[in-house]
Amino acid sequence: ATPTALMVGTGRGAQLGILIKGPEVLESTRRVDTVVLDKTGTVTTGRMTLRRVYAAEGTDERELLRLAGALEHASEHPVARAIAAGAAERAGGLPAPGHFENVPGLGVRGTVDGHDVLVGRPALLTAAGIDVPAASAGAPGPDTPGTTVHVAWDGRARGTLTVADAVKETSPEAIRRLRALGLTPVLLTGDATAVAESVAAEVGIDEVYAEVLPEDKVDVVKRLQAEGRSVAMVGDGVNDAAALAQADLGLAMGTGTDAAIEAGDLTLVRGDLRVAADAIRLARRTLGTIK
Ligand code: ADP
Ligand code: MG
Repeated sequence: ATPTALMVGTGRGAQLGILIKGPEVLESTRRVDTVVLDKTGTVTTGRMTLRRVYAAEGTDERELLRLAGALEHASEHPVARAIAAGAAERAGGLPAPGHFENVPGLGVRGTVDGHDVLVGRPALLTAAGIDVPAASAGAPGPDTPGTTVHVAWDGRARGTLTVADAVKETSPEAIRRLRALGLTPVLLTGDATAVAESVAAEVGIDEVYAEVLPEDKVDVVKRLQAEGRSVAMVGDGVNDAAALAQADLGLAMGTGTDAAIEAGDLTLVRGDLRVAADAIRLARRTLGTIK
């Protein structure tokens, strides 16, 4: 590798909004044939809003918003931010939670006004011995757009909150560019299968891994590598860091968390997914001049 060619590549990268950790990074792009994309914050904006509130029979909607909102106020997850903001808007001031615990990929748990509160995926509730009722009249079902999380306190499921996020305007074009380079896009998310599949269909991805726990994202990358695929991973979250490090090439969204940026080989400064394709094309071209 001639240093001059690599310098040109990295200088051009900076112009495009790509930060490259070191010239040796470019070498890994040579064989990449698969690009694994995190959903929330990478393919979608990650700016979710609270769209629906469902209070089970006997539950006061305001109380549901107050307790769930208070707990989520302490979390930085995009789902949590949407719930805290929506609850503050609809229910007024939120109390400060006592105990608070983040359960990665599942939700949050803590105490608010002396109640033991849980907000998250059904698995979070069932693990605490709380029954999640099968869909009842008026409750959002699997076809409801967005991400529905369950709220429980003092051992009983009390209702659901539905937040929705939008696909980034640039994502379908980004997927087309990746395909044009001969790369296979794959969607990887902790979110529900129905949500993941509707996002995948909207942007043009056929291969989907959904309901994957944060610590299991890295295993999906390993499994693809074991199949002989050379994997680039694009992500923004703390929960993507291990997968970014495991991938043959890790691309972090510059708009994401420090943990993702530290784990990645490249940073897409503006968080524009189209630049992922530019980065791979630039690296290939730079290497081409080296030969
Ligand atoms: P992604 O892989 O798309 O970035 P995560 O792994 O961070 O998503 O989260 C997966 C799912 O876990 C979310 O879609 C949501 O249902 C649930 N979840 C995670 N954090 C929270 C939270 N703070 N409050 C409620 N639900 C949460
Ligand atoms: Mg994410």
